Amino acid sequence: MGSEKRSSFARLIAHELYRSGQSTKTALMASLGASLPTVLGTVRTLMEQGVVVQDGLLASSGGRKPEALALNGAHAFAIGVDITANHLSLVAVDLRGTLRWRERLSLPFSTDNTYCTALSEALDAFLQKHDIPSQKVLGAGLSLPGILSSDGHTLADSHALRLSDFSLQGIEQALRFPVLAVNDANAAAMAEKRLLPPEGNLVYLSLSNSVGGAIFMGGTLYEGGHGRSGEFGHMPLIPNGRACYCGKHGCYDAYGSALLLSAPYQGQLTAFFTALARKEPQAVALWRDYLFHLAVMCNHLRMAFDCTVMLGGYVGAQLEPWLEEIRAEAAKLNTFEDNADYLCLCRYQTEAAATGAALMHIEKYIDTL
Ligand SMILES: [Zn+2]
Repeated sequence: MGSEKRSSFARLIAHELYRSGQSTKTALMASLGASLPTVLGTVRTLMEQGVVVQDGLLASSGGRKPEALALNGAHAFAIGVDITANHLSLVAVDLRGTLRWRERLSLPFSTDNTYCTALSEALDAFLQKHDIPSQKVLGAGLSLPGILSSDGHTLADSHALRLSDFSLQGIEQALRFPVLAVNDANAAAMAEKRLLPPEGNLVYLSLSNSVGGAIFMGGTLYEGGHGRSGEFGHMPLIPNGRACYCGKHGCYDAYGSALLLSAPYQGQLTAFFTALARKEPQAVALWRDYLFHLAVMCNHLRMAFDCTVMLGGYVGAQLEPWLEEIRAEAAKLNTFEDNADYLCLCRYQTEAAATGAALMHIEKYIDTL
């Protein structure tokens, strides 16, 4: 077998292990339509490279238990960096895509050099604290609250950071690893998407201090013509309605931002949901208003995309006790269905954006095998 063909099998096997977590030689033969010698030879090469390891035994329906194969998590790592107006999150994921370490610091964003210095120091401290060798770091994924230029090196527009056409060069240098920058909602959606079946469509509605979103079609992120797809926060929900931070009126952000719920509770979203669970009148009134507009938005997304709609972001992470109520409210608006079972909740409670940004480097590395 030619080396090019073996290399493409290596990539397929690594992708399969990345997707499934564990597999066996027999299962790899079946899923890749490959012969046993091909699988054995390629797995042996990947093991010699340290990319694949034996990972215990799998349960058997009878006879010998098959040996499990998995990616070697410790072979390589990627760093995820999520920048928001007031905080910096750092995560490290391993080659399996597992979130290994995370940290969230209070660090107000600024455009001057002191910010880049603080970023660089925070990264060094994070690597040191968790004993992550720099030579094993594939790169840093950078999640930003805004629209990226097509080459990924300029933040074209960010209301959250009050910037436009901002070069990321200083931040890229501060991170000192190869940097891939991505919109925060797209990054979070990529982390969530990985936990779902590989093919298929998904709309992700990110309900954080600002509202964003992402669209997956046939398993692939749909970025649109200008990198501005999935900006659900700026779809006018109520013509001439409440003022949005973008300067327009009636945008969904003015009805769906997590700040609407957290602001009366000293910025503590969990305090709001605790009050709601206790049926405190102020929380109940806020929730009725929030729920109504959320249901309208979900129904719009269902009508436009006819696929699963995932609720994510700060609010999405807290919604489990209220999912059925949201579904019931959304179902009332639906022309074609009598339920809203298309609604699901995000799986990551925190750091989905930083994790998704880091995973881009892991997937890119697997593509090179
Ligand atoms: Zn707006």
